Amino acid sequence: MSWFPATADVVVVGGGIIGLATAERLTDAGLTVAVVDESGIAGGATGVSGGLVRAFAPSGGDQDLAAAGLAVYRKRGWHGTWPAVRGRGSLTFLASGDLAQAHPAVTALREAGHKAEILTAEDVTTRFPGLRPAAGEYAVYEEEAGWLPAREVSAALVRDAGPLLRQVRARATGLLASGSRVTGVETSAGTIRARAVLLATGTGSTPLAATVGVRLPLRTRAVGYCLFRLGGGAVNTDLPVVVDRVAGSWLRPWDSASVVLAGVFSPRTDVPAEVRHGVPEQEVERVRDVLLRRIPHLAEAQPVGGVMAYDAMSPEGVGSVEARPEVAGLVTATGWNGGGFKLAPAVGERAAGLLREAMA
Ligand SMILES: Cc1cc2nc3c(=O)[nH]c(=O)nc-3n(C[C@H](O)[C@H](O)[C@H](O)COP(=O)(O)OP(=O)(O)OC[C@H]3O[C@@H](n4cnc5c(N)ncnc54)[C@H](O)[C@@H]3O)c2cc1C
Repeated sequence: MSWFPATADVVVVGGGIIGLATAERLTDAGLTVAVVDESGIAGGATGVSGGLVRAFAPSGGDQDLAAAGLAVYRKRGWHGTWPAVRGRGSLTFLASGDLAQAHPAVTALREAGHKAEILTAEDVTTRFPGLRPAAGEYAVYEEEAGWLPAREVSAALVRDAGPLLRQVRARATGLLASGSRVTGVETSAGTIRARAVLLATGTGSTPLAATVGVRLPLRTRAVGYCLFRLGGGAVNTDLPVVVDRVAGSWLRPWDSASVVLAGVFSPRTDVPAEVRHGVPEQEVERVRDVLLRRIPHLAEAQPVGGVMAYDAMSPEGVGSVEARPEVAGLVTATGWNGGGFKLAPAVGERAAGLLREAMA
């Protein structure tokens, strides 16, 4: 962090989990990397992420990335230095249309060495007495999934990267190109020349890509959660991570044994790209109402905090990591729509591979 790098092999714009995972993979290959972020490491969505990690993804195309990401998280990162995956596994309640897809998805996971099984409502009640499934419902249980503290993982990535990574606390204002090849990044602290550039700045990537004529449409989507202190002496230690595809909610044990983190899918898009601590009472009650059907203890739980934040969403609804054909040396990795943390190790490996190819 001590000096401004005039050159680097690669500039990574965005010091969230995607940018950091990519940067670490590049330094591991002996390359110098400048990570440019106006708010410091994990100052965007990553810093408030719930950190839920799992491999199962019944619809959409990211099960491969999620499974590869979980495998890295299980090993505590590429060098065994990250915090361990926490909790008692992950339970995904299936929406009515999910069951047909769940069977092949679970089979694929098992074939790839992941522990995944389909539970009936009765199985769920037996294993997790604190949870209430509906009669006839099914859920996928992943014993080795769970959650991680996102800020600590980010810090571990920076440590792993070592002196080949330079942090630059500055705003990126544009990309530099010569002909159809990217040559660096203009920042509020000066110019950094590089052989390749990764844009991993959430919705901030759209105007930056436009400076070299690349169209990258993205929107923000509201993502937030509440923290509840359970009443009646109840503790969270017997709860798995819960993802409820029926109600669009999720839940995980918080660091303190009596507190749970609970969120409900929000349909609000185009919200400001801001992180606000604290949750309005109306939102607290909306979340409580939805989660009550799973955790009756929430009825008398005290709200003790939470965040209202955002994530970048691609209009197609699927995030992507890709080398841009229009500008050689430019890779973009964006649009995770509330699910980027679990994918990050796999996305980082893929992005680093694309950047190295672009430099060859
Ligand atoms: C409340 C919440 C809970 C979540 N829970 C989960 C979960 O449980 N599991 C899961 O898998 N995912 C979860 N997500 C989603 C996941 O956290 C995000 O998809 C992921 O962190 C996005 O990482 P990123 O690196 O793409 O972006 P970010 O973390 O947003 O990083 C982008 C960075 O770019 C910087 N930036 C932007 N513009 C510029 C510029 N012009 N110049 C310099 N810097 C710039 C920002 O400061 C920011 O630090 C959650 C998200 C939220 C908000």
